[in-house]
Parts: sequence; structure tokens; C-alpha cells
Amino acid sequence: MSSLFPALTGDPSERVALRFGERVLTYAELAAAAGAVGERVRGKGRVAVWATPALETAVAVVGVLLAGSAAVPLNPKSGDKELGHILRDSAPGLVLAAPGDELPAALAGFERVDVDVRAVGPTSAVESADDGDPALVVYTSGTTGPPKGAVIPRRAVGATLDALADAWQWTGEDVLVHGLPLFHVHGLVLGVLGPLRRGGAVRHLGRFTTEGVARELNGGATMLFGVPTMYHRIAETLPQDPELVKALSGARLLVSGSAALPVHDHERIAAATGRRVIERYGMTETLMNTAVRADGEARAGTVGVPLPGVELRLVDEGGAAVAAYDGETVGEIQVRGPNLFTEYLNRPDATAAAFTTDGWFRTGDVAVLDPDGYVRIVGRKATDLIKSGGYKIGAGEIENALLEHPGVREAAVTGAPDADLGERIVAWIVPADPQSPPDAAELAGHVAGRLAPHKRPREVRYLDALPRNDMGKIMKRALPS
Ligand code: ATP
Ligand code: MG
Repeated sequence: MSSLFPALTGDPSERVALRFGERVLTYAELAAAAGAVGERVRGKGRVAVWATPALETAVAVVGVLLAGSAAVPLNPKSGDKELGHILRDSAPGLVLAAPGDELPAALAGFERVDVDVRAVGPTSAVESADDGDPALVVYTSGTTGPPKGAVIPRRAVGATLDALADAWQWTGEDVLVHGLPLFHVHGLVLGVLGPLRRGGAVRHLGRFTTEGVARELNGGATMLFGVPTMYHRIAETLPQDPELVKALSGARLLVSGSAALPVHDHERIAAATGRRVIERYGMTETLMNTAVRADGEARAGTVGVPLPGVELRLVDEGGAAVAAYDGETVGEIQVRGPNLFTEYLNRPDATAAAFTTDGWFRTGDVAVLDPDGYVRIVGRKATDLIKSGGYKIGAGEIENALLEHPGVREAAVTGAPDADLGERIVAWIVPADPQSPPDAAELAGHVAGRLAPHKRPREVRYLDALPRNDMGKIMKRALPS
């Protein structure tokens, strides 16, 4: 048993821990408010948290963890159907919300407790839980199917945050700019619990804006965690915003994750600011697996090296390990380590299917390994690996090539059944100018000029926007058929 938040137990300081807009809590205030939450939830089973991007959500989750219970963050934007599924599945003993939050009908039958961020509970909150006890039940993003509840043990939270601290030289002096939602691993575990474990500070923007990022990074914040859609907005804004250029140039660390960062955006940001965004790769089920290290080389299109304590291997379709560090041989990523979840809640079938007999977790992501051990994600086995004309082709590199075309604003690539090729490459394009979209021959030529000719799209479909979830991930299964 070890404390997840040493800075909160014992004698917490008057240093700032959390700032959401104008609302601030010091470590001493957070310990008191979270201690009060802990008093209310202890012994009540799993605790649902209505996870708006607000101070109350952070206090609620920390309070639940200090009490040794497990928190179930709820996405306030979930529809009634998804929420109903999550509530039936996780069966929480009560729900924590902010005063004044209006909760949907799906939550009507549950005891509600409002979080008071000024409450004073026992500040010597004791974490009486074991490392293997659940800390969180986080539902996956639902990119590929209905969300599953990953049971994340306390051990995994501590292990992943400490591994990232090692990789990023992350300390209590760091101040994080945060503009992500709080119901997934990225925004909650990395973005809130991460700084608190180090004894540093979080400044949450409420809603991501490039102005907010510029203001905070120019006002003493040291790092930014974001998803690729945020870095895309930043890349688009940089040419006309000197304050933003200054902000990014001066940041200690710019980190992207949750989906692949397009190479075009990476390069544009590097050209405008002299800074390279670094990527890390993780999942709800595994927390973080790899990262580009702060003292490592940030190469566009790579997610760095396995974190300390994480074993990573690639396997072929028969499940045999692929040994090649040649930058070419594609395999599915399997991982093992203290960062892993325990099970999918109420889904022994899915849990069993997710692990090999010797404990490796099958991520469903495919990648290649560079000679120096850097991992390059090709995409998801299910949607991003196209088998065409005897080749296995990753959608990501074609998307990256398409995004370099000035007439393309957004791009997604899929495979469609094809009598000749097995699958044919289809490009879904959001044109920069809907009045004059680049035509199919133009785009095929553009791709063939950058990649091998067999990687050119055989068909182009035009959309006004790509279907994305609330982390900005492209939902390929929602593309029209
Ligand atoms: P579901 O499992 O419900 O279909 P999901 O896989 O999107 O949804 P998450 O656990 O939030 O749910 O996301 C993990 C996935 O996100 C990874 O398996 C990987 O495909 C993708 N991902 C995360 N970080 C990166 C990255 N840096 N580069 C490329 N892909 C990434
Ligand atoms: Mg997944």
C-alpha cells in the first residue's frame, strides 16, 4: 500500500494545486475538500462522478481515491442510451456532481452528493487500499464498438505516472495547461492525477482555445497536453498569432496523444516555433505504453520508446513475436507491465480474449519498430490496415500524405471490398475549399508521388466533416457506407 498523492497526505502545502478559470485550490484546500468527499463515499462501493470540466470533478475523483474507493467518471455528453448502459454495468453506490449540475433522467434513481470545494474534511485522509484494488473504472472511447469499462488498479495509476515522470523529467515545478475532458485517461489520469502526484499544478481552460493556451504558457505554465485536433488548431493559428508562437517556443514540453498527430501539423508547428511536439501512446486499458522522452529525439510520426517497466513486442497474425527492428515489418502491439488494467467489468469473455495465456495484452494496434526501438503506429488492426493487391497498407501514412495537399483540410483512409484487389483504398476528404475540391486523379497522383504507387487512393469521397468523437478521434465505423 502506497500513497497515490504524497503531496496531499501529511501536511499539505499552500502551493496551488488546481486552477479552473478563476477558481483555485491549494494543496491544503484540496486535501480538506477531498477529505470531505472521502467521508461521504467511504464504504458506498463504486462512485460515479459527473465529469464536467470543473474543479468539482477533480476534487471528487481525488476524494474517492483517498477513501480507497473506485471512481467511475461519466461523460456528461453521453446520450441516455450510453449512460444507461454504463450505469447498469458499473452499478455505482452514489453519484458525485457539482452543485447546480442538472443530471439527466438516467441518474434519477441514484443517491446524489454535491461536491463542496470549500468543505473541510479530515486532512489526514488515509488511503487504506491495496495496490491491486480498483482506482477507476473508465469506459473506452467507443471508437470501434460499445464502450467497455476498464477496471484500472491503483498500481497502474502510480506506475504509469511515475514512468512518465521519468521520461519527461516531470516534477512538482511543472505547471500543466489542460483543455481536455475529464472522463478519459488522457484528461483525468495524465492531466489531473499526474500533476497532483508530482506536487505540481494544473490550469484547466474549461474549453480549449488557442488564446487560453497562449495566455497560460506565456504566464508561467510549462507544459501542454493535447489531442491532435488541438494541435491542428494551433498549427492553423500560429502564422497569424505571435503570442501563440512565443508561448509554444517557450514551453518545456508539448505533448500529443489519444490519436496519431498528423505529420503535416507536427512539421508546421516545428517550423513556426522551433519546437517539436512529442507523442505518447496509450489506451484506457493500459494507461501509457510508450513516449518520446524529453531528452530524446522527437521524430514526426513516432510515439517514442516503451516506458520504464513496460514490455512491448510485435506479433504476426499467428501470434508469434516479430523480431525485426527494421522500420518495415508490421505487427500487432502486445504489452505487459504494471500499467495494465485488471479486467473489463462484467465482461470475462472480452477480458479473456484480450490477453494471451502468458499475460500479454493484445492492443489491436499495429506498428513497426525502427532500428533504435522507436515505435511507429500504423493504425488499428481492424480499421487502418488495408489489404490491397497482396500488400498490407497502413491508412495513416496515406492520410499523412493527403494532408500535405493544400486542397485537403481533413482526410481519412479506409479499405472497401474490391473484386480485383481484395480491398481498394478509399480516401475520405474534407476539402479546404468546398467550391473547388481536388479531384480523384489529382489526389492519386499526389499520393503516388510521395509513397509507393500501390498506396494511391482508387476512390475519393467528399464530406463536409469527418465523424469524430469528443476526443477528436476519427470514428471510421461512422463513415457513410
Ligand atoms: P474503443 O476501445 O472503445 O474502440 P478507443 O480504442 O478509441 O475506443 P481509447 O482507449 O481511449 O479508446 O484509445 C486508445 C487508442 O487510441 C489506442 O488503441 C490507439 O489506437 C489510439 N492512440 C492513442 N494514442 C495514440 C498515438 N499517439 N498515436 C496513434 N494512436 C494512438
Ligand atoms: Mg480501444
